[in-house]
Amino acid sequence: RAKSEGRNLYRFFEPGMDATVQTRRALEADLETALPRQEFDLDFQPIMNIESGEIVGAEALMRWHSPTRGTVAPDNFIPVAEETGLIVRLGEWALRKACAAAAGWPSALRIAVNVSAVQLKSSGFARNVISALAFSGVPASRLELEITETVLMDESETVLKTLRQLRELGIRIALDDFGTGYSSLGYLRRFPVDKIKIDRSFIRDIGNRDTAAIVRTIIGLGSELGITVTAEGVETEMQLDILRKDGCVEAQGYLIGVPSKATDIVRLLKTTVAVGQSG
Ligand code: C2E
Ligand code: MG
Ligand code: MG
Ligand code: MG
Repeated sequence: RAKSEGRNLYRFFEPGMDATVQTRRALEADLETALPRQEFDLDFQPIMNIESGEIVGAEALMRWHSPTRGTVAPDNFIPVAEETGLIVRLGEWALRKACAAAAGWPSALRIAVNVSAVQLKSSGFARNVISALAFSGVPASRLELEITETVLMDESETVLKTLRQLRELGIRIALDDFGTGYSSLGYLRRFPVDKIKIDRSFIRDIGNRDTAAIVRTIIGLGSELGITVTAEGVETEMQLDILRKDGCVEAQGYLIGVPSKATDIVRLLKTTVAVGQSG
């Protein structure tokens, strides 16, 4: 009996594995055609200076509107695009699209673009960045590139060189999801960074005494090092109040504004100031 059960299990499992592979292949194929079919889009989420209450920039967030799958979240397709290598072209598209949008905004607004490790390590990355800026007419000083700590994990000399080159042009480098990596402090010591974005998991739990102490320490660290600190995922007035008291420079999150269309960012400029001044 056990033997036949085992056989059934085996028969069930085998096609199941095939299905997983097939599902994955289908996703890869859909992703590949999505770029020429113009199924990708960017949303923009405002970033606020806490002290002044002013919107100082926006982060570009990629969206995939698939005709068969609906809207797919970046966490569900970026890792696949990284594996297939599509991220290099996709990232270049995002960079150009984001700079083009920023060209239509007031010149005080910065544009933040997420950059994948694969993209940063690809040859010609710096050249693509320079070209996107030149084509849009957006000065380098308005561009911020957000990299996650995993990008820096292999500590390659190439990455370091690229980051230095970009910074020399006046582009800012932000460390995204700060505090979630293996060696957050180590990276700060070795890599040229202009900004830290405190991961939203810390802001979510900022009501907890220990978490509040960690956030306060990161803010202090940033100020000691002359690095701008941005809090991600700010959803409540209470969270913003704590961050303000701790001297956090910038805030981003649903309280300030949800990711929205490029043209809505300009409209948002007035309404969000009220949020910043209410505390
Ligand atoms: P991220 O760069 O850390 O972006 C912030 C994420 O938090 C976004 O998720 C945003 O919608 C979400 N968020 C913002 N405010 C709040 C809030 O108050 N509460 C909560 N719960 N969430 C908030 P999204 O758009 O799903 O993007 C997920 C990740 O995908 C990004 O994390 C980034 O790592 C990656 N990503 C997005 N666009 C691109 C891109 O163009 N290129 C690359 N390489 N990665 C991208
Ligand atoms: Mg980001
Ligand atoms: Mg983040
Ligand atoms: Mg993230």
